[in-house]
Amino acid sequence: MSAVKNICILGSTGSIGQSTLAVIAGAPEYQVFALTAHSNTDALLEQCLQFKPRFAVISDPERLDEMAAKLQQSGSSTQLLGGPEALEQVASDSECDTVMAAIVGAAGLASSLAAVRAGKRVLLANKEALVMAGDLFMEAARASNALVIPIDSEHNAIFQCLPSVPGGLAAEQLKAVEKVVLTGSGGPFLEMPRESLVAVTPEQACRHPKWSMGRKISVDSATMMNKGLEFIEACYLFALDAAQVEVLIHPQSVIHSMVHYLDGSVLAQMANPDMRVPIAYGLAWPQRMQSGVSPLDLAAEQALEFREPDLKQFPCLSLGMEAARQGGGAPIVLNAANEVAVAAFLEGRLGFSRIPLIIAEVLSKTPCEAPSSLAIIQDCDARARSLANELIIKEFH
Ligand code: NAD
Ligand code: MG
Repeated sequence: MSAVKNICILGSTGSIGQSTLAVIAGAPEYQVFALTAHSNTDALLEQCLQFKPRFAVISDPERLDEMAAKLQQSGSSTQLLGGPEALEQVASDSECDTVMAAIVGAAGLASSLAAVRAGKRVLLANKEALVMAGDLFMEAARASNALVIPIDSEHNAIFQCLPSVPGGLAAEQLKAVEKVVLTGSGGPFLEMPRESLVAVTPEQACRHPKWSMGRKISVDSATMMNKGLEFIEACYLFALDAAQVEVLIHPQSVIHSMVHYLDGSVLAQMANPDMRVPIAYGLAWPQRMQSGVSPLDLAAEQALEFREPDLKQFPCLSLGMEAARQGGGAPIVLNAANEVAVAAFLEGRLGFSRIPLIIAEVLSKTPCEAPSSLAIIQDCDARARSLANELIIKEFH
């Protein structure tokens, strides 16, 4: 019997948060230490009643009183905290061992970084944190001995295909890696004629053929900015040059990514497309545990296809890859402009095909010094957001 693990789930009411709770619901060795949500008090209350965490956090201060009343009425003994600082507090509490970082977007950066600085096992779903602050993040992990296990299915697949030692990846043996290949389904618009993309709606963009996810990442998958962000994520996580990362379209989403070694061997990880697989791997590593996902039936699959991505169909992928090559502040600006453009698209204020144009313009007009501190990163992020908002408002009028 292994010792009980105390886990904090940042963003527990989201898609990844719920899948994490589904995996640990069947595993008594995991105890929930803290759950957090931005504003969905009903969902957070329900989770508190089922999992009885020590702490619950509502990060939107305007919903705090409402949550306090609901918890009190229900007789729950969970202690309620409020505001964005409380996210950092629970993520770095000495009684918590494992942090699932599953807040969406830049809003998750400070708490993900706090968990890393406190030396936790950090299950990192919040890819935007790494895109914005990759060097800072990985350096903090080295300094504190935090173990960062990527939960993004592609990076988790790569982690599974790389040699590891008890503390994490085996740095020496990583030299034998020639390149990594990120696979992507191509999203809902893979086969759509380019001229039809102008008229797509948020509902169409959020209907992903293979994965069920939150709305922001669903739109990112439809533009393939998701693969662009993942390209940057892979460079930071595995200390790779942009030239060592490739993207392949694989519509069946059976192979989640691959590692090419210098002797010609290629290792791939396969599973049904369900985030409970990488979540269970991150929780149990270096062991394995039940995830609840049905076994892969390869005989029942159609042929597995692979092809190069069409960068004209998916200019956001191209922008992401270019930002990775440029480094410096480019990934921060790219991420900020993308978050603003995607939010505007979801609110009906921006056409789907305008998303890459806004991002490209913000990238060309937002200088940013080397992102060596959180303050510089946040300043660069804020300037890019404000320009993106300005451009979108201008366009709408
Ligand atoms: P989601 O929208 O379903 O959930 C987001 C969570 O973050 C919710 O709990 C919400 O309350 C919280 N949140 C939102 N805004 C916040 C704010 N301002 N401050 C604090 N908390 C806030 O998102 P998701 O699909 O679960 O994705 C979460 C992260 O995981 C994203 O970074 C995404 O890219 C990554 N990811 C998701 C999937 C997936 O299958 N859903 C796969 C790979 C990576
Ligand atoms: Mg992914």
